[in-house]
Amino acid sequence: MSARPKKSFGQHFLHEKRYIERIVSAVSPKPNDFVVEIGPGEGALTLPLLAVAGKLTAIELDTDLIPDLQARAAAVGELSIIHADVLKVDFTALAHRHGVERLRIAGNLPYYISSPILFHCVEHAAAIQDMHFMLQKEVVDRMAAEPGSKVYGRLSVMLQLACRVEPLFTVPPGAFRPPPKVDSAVVRVTPLPVAQLHDADPARVYAVVKAAFAQRRKTLNNALRQLMDSEAIRAADVDPKARAETLAPMDFVRLAKVPTGG
Ligand code: SAM
Repeated sequence: MSARPKKSFGQHFLHEKRYIERIVSAVSPKPNDFVVEIGPGEGALTLPLLAVAGKLTAIELDTDLIPDLQARAAAVGELSIIHADVLKVDFTALAHRHGVERLRIAGNLPYYISSPILFHCVEHAAAIQDMHFMLQKEVVDRMAAEPGSKVYGRLSVMLQLACRVEPLFTVPPGAFRPPPKVDSAVVRVTPLPVAQLHDADPARVYAVVKAAFAQRRKTLNNALRQLMDSEAIRAADVDPKARAETLAPMDFVRLAKVPTGG
């Protein structure tokens, strides 16, 4: 019945029941929720989520998996499968099209594009109620990292400015077929009512964060040289001799808001 998992699609199918149950209970769909699953695969999470939610929309890139999943779901609930690359799915438009304010998103993500998927979701945060994702544990650690931590970086800052990040539990490689090389973890990501950007231009915040962490061993003065001088850094109430890894997410917002040039 089950197809050979495709490495190029990041296919690691979850088979351990207790982890499936823990994810479904973490999501805990309610009758009127509009639940979207990223990468349903062979349906390990899809069918149990569908059994609770009654209906579900899933986004899958691998055409070969779709007919079997659609057939098996028929007896469980109303499953709508979008055959697409999730990075090309406009979540805001999807919510509007279905007349819902906010989506609930879940998925055991394809690890080869986990960061792009997270950034994509952050872009659509206003149309998302919450997300429950299985990811590499190392990525979840970076998402939740605090200033001063070795793994605090671009992902931590950009996510934490827009969302609350709650690591839930870890999952060992043996829970998947085939087992990935790394430990995994499930995380809940809840968009904040208003992203903490305080009128800063999101593109400017992103540029500052990216430059600051591109050379994380350097002082901000050096790392941000192309974007602003030390006077501008001081104007944001930040020490130009500090390094990016010591700054709180809000410090980057203040840096992005300092007028430069002219
Ligand atoms: N949910 C299933 C499970 O838990 O067993 C499968 C998880 S598997 C780690 C990732 C799934 O994402 C696969 O089904 C894969 O085909 C799908 N996928 C990979 N790249 C994708 C993309 N760009 N857009 C949508 N789905 C993708």
